[in-house]
Amino acid sequence: MQRVQTKRELQKTLVKLRAQGSLGLVPTMGALHKGHASLIERSARENAHTVVSIFVNPTQFNNQADLQHYPRTAEADLDLIRAIAPNALVFSPSVAEMYTQDPSPKTYDFHGLDKVMEGAFRDDHFNGVGTVVEMLLRLVAPQKAYFGEKDFQQLRIVQKLTKTLNLPVDIVGCPIVREANGLAMSSRNERLSPEARQRAGIIHQTLTTAKEKFGTESVLEVKEWAKGVFDALPRFTLEYLEIADVDTLTPANKKQKGTAYRAFMAVYLEDVRLIDNMAMN
Ligand code: AMP
Repeated sequence: MQRVQTKRELQKTLVKLRAQGSLGLVPTMGALHKGHASLIERSARENAHTVVSIFVNPTQFNNQADLQHYPRTAEADLDLIRAIAPNALVFSPSVAEMYTQDPSPKTYDFHGLDKVMEGAFRDDHFNGVGTVVEMLLRLVAPQKAYFGEKDFQQLRIVQKLTKTLNLPVDIVGCPIVREANGLAMSSRNERLSPEARQRAGIIHQTLTTAKEKFGTESVLEVKEWAKGVFDALPRFTLEYLEIADVDTLTPANKKQKGTAYRAFMAVYLEDVRLIDNMAMN
């Protein structure tokens, strides 16, 4: 495993790697866990070389406290990557290196994909994501880039971005990796007390039952039922719960024939914001 911290070193190293076959890119913000590991393993299986970027991107944080508290575990991250992809290339630039002078996001037109759910509650978040993902894709020019369905809206937005910009890369969506109680793995889970982390399994349980109900009940009935679960749990504060078309991400009020739906939610527990989603049909 090799680690580079400047764009110049990255591009110099990539010249050699590209000559040996296809490149896969796994963009991350570090504090790596088994969810990230699944993306890295898949990329390592499908490509001659894998580039893992570790960069806590300031322009996608709408909340400065969240940015400051974001876990940074560089040594453990490198150990994890070394163990699963010994010939990976790690790119871990500083903010100044990545943004040169101006750490502010570009403005994209994501055709409304960014206006709902995460976008409605996190101002400019997806412009920040788009900015850093575009930079990474242009720098690394991989054949494939791997993103988790944990951030399903982000996955759709990155697919839209690469299509609009005509970037020749295949965006691969990877299934959500969960803890034993069903809680979607996240770097933010570390900030929960052990008791809350256990209780947070209710998020996955609720989505699973919502999926069962979705077979026979209306969209509004399922949503009301799921919201009711969290209303009855005072330690959880539900931010949103939507059932949306998987392609347009438009929240639905009624089922349409031939449309695939997914439920999406964000909830606060002990001041930690947790997101999850699940296919409903
Ligand atoms: P992050 O470091 O949180 O920006 O995540 C980097 C990538 O890992 C994103 O594409 C995430 O969607 C993905 N990821 C994070 N958690 C999980 C998980 N539990 N399962 C699958 N992918 C994940």
